[in-house]
Amino acid sequence: MWPQHVYTTAEELVEYFLTHQATDSDIQAVEVQLGRFPRGMVAVGARCVCGQPLTTVTRPLIDGKIPFPTTFYLTHPGATKAISHVEAAGRLAELTEQLTSDDVLAAGYMKAHESYLAVRHELAVRLGDSEEHIEGITAGGMPERVKCLHAVLAQTLAMGPGVNPVGDLILSEIREEFDPNVCRCSR
Ligand SMILES: [Zn+2]
Repeated sequence: MWPQHVYTTAEELVEYFLTHQATDSDIQAVEVQLGRFPRGMVAVGARCVCGQPLTTVTRPLIDGKIPFPTTFYLTHPGATKAISHVEAAGRLAELTEQLTSDDVLAAGYMKAHESYLAVRHELAVRLGDSEEHIEGITAGGMPERVKCLHAVLAQTLAMGPGVNPVGDLILSEIREEFDPNVCRCSR
């Protein structure tokens, strides 16, 4: 069942990822989902209740030369499709607007940005990767805008509930179409 782990600290989460590294069959499954080989993939960030990967965890520097800020990437076709539907319905602009008027949401979103950076930094330290070209950069438009809900949901799935309030909100909005604890993989 999701979440497979509960976020407490960056150190603990990265330890979990590094002791549950992606297997060959995980990498093959993600390659099928994305239609390309997932370079730099360290672990599966979260799984469907059936075991299929939902997100990847990618190292900060791929092949020792490509800086990669998008540590958490949404790979599951059902999840990406559900997110595309809410993006098409205008949620990016609405949520970005909401961040300017809702201080609690904005503070939570800033905190999500900071914990994203903390996890990536810990990955960089543990894997010996440089963050030189991606320092301070996360994904999805964080911390001030909502530009990609795929990236935001990927963080929520990989780090668990209570970390990114925008991701928590969007997951609740798409649950009829995608739910990590309801397998619709064969459809
Ligand atoms: Zn499934």
